[in-house]
Amino acid sequence: MARYIGPVCRLCRRQNEKLMLKGERCTSRKCAVERRSLPPGRQRPQRRKISDRGIQLREKQKARHTYGVLERQFRRHFAEAEKRSGVTGENLLHILEMRLDNVVYRLGFADSRRQARQIVRHGHITINGRKLNIPSYGVRVGDVIAWWERGTRTEYYKRMAEQIADKIVPEWLSLDGEKLSGRVLSLPNRSDIDLRIDEKVIVEYYSR
Ligand code: SF4
Repeated sequence: MARYIGPVCRLCRRQNEKLMLKGERCTSRKCAVERRSLPPGRQRPQRRKISDRGIQLREKQKARHTYGVLERQFRRHFAEAEKRSGVTGENLLHILEMRLDNVVYRLGFADSRRQARQIVRHGHITINGRKLNIPSYGVRVGDVIAWWERGTRTEYYKRMAEQIADKIVPEWLSLDGEKLSGRVLSLPNRSDIDLRIDEKVIVEYYSR
């Protein structure tokens, strides 16, 4: 299962925006966007105007990097979004938000989507009682996401269990802080998705 393995802070610097890819570090003073305002690989900022196509590409890349999805899979998600009824851009965000790695992150089981992906890949998560290690798996309304019994013996789990009481989860999810399990209550509304992504621009990018 392919994934991006390059330097992640570089992706934020390219966007000149915090994509929050590294958990705690993103809110600390070590954040590369706060320390260096220049895009990677350049000593001076370019002054040329970005074309419409460039803006669309940048928006698409922002969404892709935020959710940690490679191009081919992102295209697949977009194709699925187009097939569904309703607004394609919103469908795309629904598909991205309902990925298992994202839901694990939203429930507070991980500090970042990258970490959530790793937790899923290592087989610590169950869906409706069945172990599942596919980060891109699309969860459905009513699904219960919990920890695999063996995963609860790790030091990480114990630390997280102490901190999770303070965690506020989005309205489309519910969290049982005692059992450390969550349920998908509904599809997320656009207002529940706290990301500065313009999905209409992404649709324009793929519609050319
Ligand atoms: Fe992006 Fe986080 Fe790195 Fe800051 S610390 S540049 S927000 S990944």
